[in-house]
This record gives sequence, C-alpha cells and structure tokens, in this order.
Amino acid sequence: MSLLVIGTVAFDAIETPFGKTDKIVGGAATYASLAASYFYDKVKIVAVVGDDFPAESIANFGSHHIDTEGLQVKAGEKSFFWSGKYHNDMNSRDTLITELNVLADFDPIIPANYQDCEYLMLGNLTPQVQQTVIKRLKNRPKLIVMDTMNFWMDIAMDDLLETIKLVDVLTINDAEARQLSGEYSLAKAANKILTMGPKYLIIKKGEHGALLFGEGKIFSAPALPLEEVFDPTGAGDTFAGGFIGYMAKAGTVNFDNMKNAIIYGSALASFCVEKFGTEKIKNLSAGEVAARVQQFVNLTKFEIITA
Ligand code: AMP
Repeated sequence: MSLLVIGTVAFDAIETPFGKTDKIVGGAATYASLAASYFYDKVKIVAVVGDDFPAESIANFGSHHIDTEGLQVKAGEKSFFWSGKYHNDMNSRDTLITELNVLADFDPIIPANYQDCEYLMLGNLTPQVQQTVIKRLKNRPKLIVMDTMNFWMDIAMDDLLETIKLVDVLTINDAEARQLSGEYSLAKAANKILTMGPKYLIIKKGEHGALLFGEGKIFSAPALPLEEVFDPTGAGDTFAGGFIGYMAKAGTVNFDNMKNAIIYGSALASFCVEKFGTEKIKNLSAGEVAARVQQFVNLTKFEIITA
C-alpha cells in the first residue's frame, strides 16, 4: 500500500511584501509529498527535474522517508521554473514567469514497486500527464485527489475536463471554481463541477478557509487567523498533501474522514505560509502539528447557551 504524489518539483523565485528569494526549491509535488509524510510513511513521488536540481534537495525527500525512485533527472535539461509576486493582501498573486523546461515533454514512468498505490495525489501539472499516470496504474487507486490551477484552464481546458472525469476529489481555489463553472456563486459552481466527474469538491479560499462539497453535504473549515503570513506559495499543495496523507492514514473514504482531513491539511498549510518556501514544513514535530490542529478545533467549537 502506498500514496503516490505526482506534480512539479521545481525552482521558484518569490516576491512578497516581506522579501524576495532567488531560486529556491518548490513545486507542487515537493510541498504535497512533504505534507503527506507527516501522516503516512509510504509516500512515493513521480516527477521530473533537470540536472540543475541539487542532489541534497533530492536527499531531503529521503529524510522524510519519501521514495524518489520515480523522480527522473534529465541530463542537460533545466528544471521547471516558476516566479510569482504577491500583492499586499497576500491573497492574490501575479505569475511573472512559467518556464516548463523538463515538464514540456514529461513522460511519467511508474516504477514497478509503485503499482501498490492506493492513494493518488495528482498535484498541479499538465492535465495530460495527470491522466497518463491514472492510466498507467494497473489497479485504480481507492482515492484519487486532483489539484490544478487557472494556468491549465487557460491553455488546456479540454484535457483538464477529460482528467477531472476520472478523479474522486478536485481541489481548486474560489477563482478557479468560478472560471471552471462559469458561475459566481460558489454553491452553484460546486453543484456544476460535481456533475463533471468528481464525487467531492474542495474549494480553497486562502485566508478564509476551505469548503468541502459532496454526498449532498457541505463542510466549512476555517483558516487560522495568523499574525504574519510570510509567503503563501505552496499552501494549496501543502493542504492537498496533508489532506490525502490523513485520508491514507484513516483508511476509509467518507465525508466524515474528509472533514478531519481538511482540518489536518489546513493546519499544515498554516505552517507553510509562516516562512519562505518549504522552510517551515521541512522540520515540524508531531507535537507542533497536534497543537496546531487543536487550535483549529478551538477556533470553531462553541455551545449554544439558551439566553
Ligand atoms: P500553490 O501556491 O499551492 O498554488 O503552489 C505553488 C507551487 O506550484 C510553486 O512551488 C510552483 O513551482 C508550482 N507551480 C506554479 N505554476 C505551476 C504550473 N503551471 N504547473 C505546476 N506547478 C506549478
């Protein structure tokens, strides 16, 4: 049994009102696999980098017991590069540069020992590649979670719609839910997206938390009001990785476990934004994670007192 994460392993250059980084290690699969590793110890990644990617950063996956046999290193090629700049409210950002590089012709090879995959996290990546991974698994995983973004809606909508049909849970942000459905109301957008294939939809709303739709029910998870948000990059991927990592640990796919998974994913994402890149989520203790989850519980727990 294992949890397979696909997505970008990349270099990012980030600018926020608090500072600017040169190229640092990022990518959807990086954040998602690190987050999942806090809950599940059989995380495996399928991704591609160029030979400019530092060996010590690959070794860092190993220190989280993440299997990198499926991480291809392409000689003479450059890793995926993304650069973004956040606005003052930190909720919106502009993509400055997206260089696909090795991603342009990525052929995801699934090592034989990855075929025991029960949980599949399709991190943000070309929808065509996401679909290929599903097709290359001999048995359909018990749970397929897919993350994507506006970039793919803009340039590969048809492929995206084909891939969405094959997954159980789709995670997107509020703007992307509106773009995908053509509806402004998130409730209407969710109903429409749930007719496109996925059984569950998670709409991420940045500092306003996340909504889970499915089984005719809705669950609303808060975001922790943090005094300082340093860098939101990777929060969505960290959320998704924490979500599927918790689901793999729980072992049963149902709405109640997903409610918990959303809280665990949100807790991990709240750590992610406190430092640049993966700095914070690389070194968390189980105690820190448990304490943060308890903060989420306290945030919304109340009793009705009859006045
Ligand atoms: P998030 O902030 O959760 O949306 O994720 C940011 C991460 O996604 C960064 O580390 C980027 O390297 C990666 N990323 C940005 N654009 C793309 C894209 N078009 N496809 C895949 N990954 C991307």
